[in-house]
Amino acid sequence: MIMKCSFCGKEIKRGQGILYVKKDGSLIYFDDGKCQTNMLDLGRKAAKLKWARAGAIGRPTGQKTDRSVAKAAAKAVKAEAKEAAKTQKSEAKTTTVKAEKK
Ligand SMILES: [Zn+2]
Repeated sequence: MIMKCSFCGKEIKRGQGILYVKKDGSLIYFDDGKCQTNMLDLGRKAAKLKWARAGAIGRPTGQKTDRSVAKAAAKAVKAEAKEAAKTQKSEAKTTTVKAEKK
């Protein structure tokens, strides 16, 4: 399996590169120390660097994880509930107005 640098997107040759394991268990592959320093120590984003932009483009960003999907679903439900509440309120208003007119 050919690994790609998580920062610049370059292919990492077998037996080379750095495998960085975060505290949460996620893996980050680096082809050299330059990429590691830029990502972890300097906190730079690959999309903002000319030499690393290929990695940012090639990487599937915004990949929907189970968590994000659940979040989106929860948001949709909330929005629906809000709209329902709004319509109910407006209905209530109209009924009160009608009651006052009588
Ligand atoms: Zn790299």
